[in-house]
Amino acid sequence: MKKIIIVGGGFGGLYTALKLIQLDWTQQPEIIIIEKNDRFVFSPLLYELITEEMQSWEIAPHYADLLANTRIKYIQDTVADIDINQQKVILTNHDSLLYDRLVIALGGTTPTDLVKGATEYAIPFRSLENAYQLKEKLRQLENSEQEFIRVAIVGGGYSGVELALKIADRLGNKGKIRIIDRGSDILVNSPEFNQKTAKKALKDHQIWLDLETEIEEIKEREITLSYKNKSDTIPVDIVLWTIGTKPVKIINKLPLPQNKQGKININSQLQVENYPEIFAIGDLVECYDQERKVLPPTAQVAFQQSDYCAWNIWASLEEKPLLPFQYQPLGEMLALGIDNATLSGLGISLNGDLAYLARRLVYLYRLPTFEHQLEVAFNWITSPLTNLIKNS
Ligand SMILES: Cc1cc2nc3c(=O)[nH]c(=O)nc-3n(C[C@H](O)[C@H](O)[C@H](O)COP(=O)(O)OP(=O)(O)OC[C@H]3O[C@@H](n4cnc5c(N)ncnc54)[C@H](O)[C@@H]3O)c2cc1C
Repeated sequence: MKKIIIVGGGFGGLYTALKLIQLDWTQQPEIIIIEKNDRFVFSPLLYELITEEMQSWEIAPHYADLLANTRIKYIQDTVADIDINQQKVILTNHDSLLYDRLVIALGGTTPTDLVKGATEYAIPFRSLENAYQLKEKLRQLENSEQEFIRVAIVGGGYSGVELALKIADRLGNKGKIRIIDRGSDILVNSPEFNQKTAKKALKDHQIWLDLETEIEEIKEREITLSYKNKSDTIPVDIVLWTIGTKPVKIINKLPLPQNKQGKININSQLQVENYPEIFAIGDLVECYDQERKVLPPTAQVAFQQSDYCAWNIWASLEEKPLLPFQYQPLGEMLALGIDNATLSGLGISLNGDLAYLARRLVYLYRLPTFEHQLEVAFNWITSPLTNLIKNS
């Protein structure tokens, strides 16, 4: 029996596995996901945990539940190494698994070592643990005697803006929030409609923008900024770090072709150059669209790659032609606080509560497995009623 091993169970890995089992095989392969965590994280909805609009089981279902009724085997372990020549994945407990086809989908990390003090005092926002850490910190400050809660968010990209607005809605008048970015504008890669709508929401929430500003140093309760070569140290309660994505460390030690940022070079069929049995997708690859523009590290890209990756693995084992990856830009959605969002794509621009609803529905449809979609949908429909009963 052929063995397909998928390392990393995120947007690239999990969805590849789920697509592999839908394909028509002459001989069923063994499909194994190796993932260090016990829960899949639907990161575009991670912000909703801060405002408690959603619960963690909705956005981070357990793999054991998701894969319970499938042919996919899930091993909870950390990949320590990959022996490319012997086609073997090595786990931290030194167990190893041979593969016929390998999918590398280990994702990225947020580099906090770019500024003095960031690793010690700033919270990145990438994982469930980061969201819990932020929530706990906010809870402690909310219960303190402090009149204001001062939050500095490093980065004026999607994450920085979405986080700022969710936190602003949670803290209300107690929040003093600033976004710091070295560029001259925020959301520079966004469609004009989303950028304008987001800027208005930031203004309405009195969120301060420190543009063209560098961070010099972060300490326990202060941050030093540099604007036009003038330093300014300001007091702060929480610093959130949202900038940068670099491939997970283990990738650098693999003898695979990589670009300057350490991203794996792949061909148009998503195979690693010179290793046709290895596919790589998601945040750790350099991938292009049809116009040879480098694609950003997004769930949208990883999700679309997973479709082609599954198909091409099937084709390579069934001796059928492989397909070149074709990216379809579907637009962009941003949460702008509670009950508010903006979206642009496929000729549609929407904001306000309609955009909020559309974003929710699109993400509901994107959640892994039909059973999980049903459970979440049921909860959304019934929770207003449950809350009403609880509060009466
Ligand atoms: C807060 C936030 C919001 C986002 N919002 C959006 C959005 O709105 N739209 C959008 O398109 N994109 C969004 N993104 C980006 C998106 O989440 C990523 O681009 C996407 O998850 C990349 O998929 P991936 O499979 O490459 O990596 P991931 O989804 O990160 O999966 C990698 C998996 O590998 C596992 N892993 C790592 N190392 C090991 C190891 N050594 N052994 C075993 N397992 C390992 C990890 O635990 C993880 O589960 C957001 C990201 C964040 C952090």
